[in-house]
Amino acid sequence: MATESPEEAAGRARAVLADLDGLLPEVDALYQDLHANPELSGAEVRTAGMVASCYAAAGLDVTAGVGGLGVVGVLANGPGPVVGIRADFDALPIAEDTGLAYASTAVGTRADGTTVPVMHACGHDLHTASLVGAARLLAAHRDRWRGTLVLIAQPAEETMQGAKAMLGDGLFDRFPRPDVVLAQHCAVTRTGMVHHKAGIAYSACRNFRITIHGRGAHGAAPHWSVDPVLLAAQTIVLLQGIVAREVDPDEMTVLTVGSVHAGTRPNIIPPEAVLEVTLRATSEPVIDQLQAAMERIVNGVAATGRAPRPPEIELREHTIAVDNDAAVTARVRAVHAELFGADEVIDLPEANKGSEDFAYLGADIPATMWFYGSTAPELWDAASGELRERMARMPGQHTPFYAPDRLPTLRRGVETLVGAALAYLPGRPA
Ligand SMILES: [Zn+2]
Ligand SMILES: [Zn+2]
Repeated sequence: MATESPEEAAGRARAVLADLDGLLPEVDALYQDLHANPELSGAEVRTAGMVASCYAAAGLDVTAGVGGLGVVGVLANGPGPVVGIRADFDALPIAEDTGLAYASTAVGTRADGTTVPVMHACGHDLHTASLVGAARLLAAHRDRWRGTLVLIAQPAEETMQGAKAMLGDGLFDRFPRPDVVLAQHCAVTRTGMVHHKAGIAYSACRNFRITIHGRGAHGAAPHWSVDPVLLAAQTIVLLQGIVAREVDPDEMTVLTVGSVHAGTRPNIIPPEAVLEVTLRATSEPVIDQLQAAMERIVNGVAATGRAPRPPEIELREHTIAVDNDAAVTARVRAVHAELFGADEVIDLPEANKGSEDFAYLGADIPATMWFYGSTAPELWDAASGELRERMARMPGQHTPFYAPDRLPTLRRGVETLVGAALAYLPGRPA
């Protein structure tokens, strides 16, 4: 599909990016606004509205309300390939503790009506502001390329629902179907660094809510009860044997019981206990194996412990693994290496144990998702160790302390997107 050399594509990218200095203050203003006003997954009404107006101002054909709050911007620029680029825009239920002037003090309302502090702790505000910046530059320089851009602004990534909802609402039928789909995620490596990973880049994930039924009683009459707290404790311990003793040690797998809830007082044996469990693996057969083992243990413990009825095991959130197309990854990587220098483009040694619902956008279309650093050089350089050790020491994503090195990260986020888009959108014949 792409016939131009990486050097030629990077050369056009440099010409397009010549205007980035002038545009960066606007990208930064959008970023700070998004950061100060984060919204929970599926509730990104204000954010979606801002993205739609930014896309319209850039001259794109805008459709809002795709799969809920998704926004699609299309820029048709003559015959040529169709390139899809996705950025997500939801935030997390975390109280920001960065001390930044533009830190979030926002609260959001959860589905159960409770309110929680909200923070852009995964950097989706970076993704969205940089995609708007790239859209502005690519629209302004449409003489430098031909083809069609489909910009996909996605809600509800953290709950793994947004991509499926947009696809279910005809993302690839109602709008030009991309020949290639691209996305990026910020990482805690040094700003400037760009990371690629062919093949599996993010794990498959399944999140469960498990309700273990017992029989409540007075805390002083345990013999009249079926104690769900004891059943939950036994279940949690036995679940640890799945990864340790059932799965091939060569497989990257995780089973975490992240939440346990039961009871209200020491002297009341409650009627039920609720566990929340996440499973991670790099393939569907292996995550199937994890799930089957989990179900066997959950049901087995309940039956052994005289539970009055079997537990309820609900699959609440899930995604397949992100499997980056080797050719697309190599092509984008080559253009990035031209643009930033080979030293700044560093391959990731292994898949991320996190998960990303971008997997669905790239399930039937060649796709790649790369990563780019967001930590200030002084912080990164002060740490020692190899890449993964240093990453573990940085203020991490999904914590109250994630504070990206703002301007350099926004800049690199625009540059990576423009370079990747032009890797597939050819130049116009002279
Ligand atoms: Zn996240
Ligand atoms: Zn994320």
